[in-house]
Amino acid sequence: MSIFSAIIAREIPADIVFESERIIAFRDIAPRAPMHLLVVPKTEDYANVVELSAGDPELLAEMVAVAQDLASEHADGEFRLVFNTGANAGQSVFHVHAHVLAGGLTEGSLGGE
Ligand code: AMP
Repeated sequence: MSIFSAIIAREIPADIVFESERIIAFRDIAPRAPMHLLVVPKTEDYANVVELSAGDPELLAEMVAVAQDLASEHADGEFRLVFNTGANAGQSVFHVHAHVLAGGLTEGSLGGE
């Protein structure tokens, strides 16, 4: 089970800001921007965004829509969406997730590094 599945199952705590049938979103434990949320599909079937876009593009589109809604709710509606893909690119959790960063972004706010 991934650490994100443990959050979905409420086995470990998280600051959950959104939940639907297929998606959950919560605050990143090590924020790199004033708003740093993770948008995560509940399924563990996809390790990264490349697998997700090939396997379930509608779910990827749903993640983007959730990111927009959360950036509007928690910041000014503008946001950076980051999918680290592969360990050499900074991915540490191999359960696909989007970093949604907003509010006073700097060049160092790329997520995952
Ligand atoms: P990545 O490095 O792109 O795979 O992103 C994984 C992210 O998950 C990192 O930004 C971590 O800070 C974050 N993270 C790891 N464990 C937790 C947790 N228990 N609650 C919230 N965020 C977490």
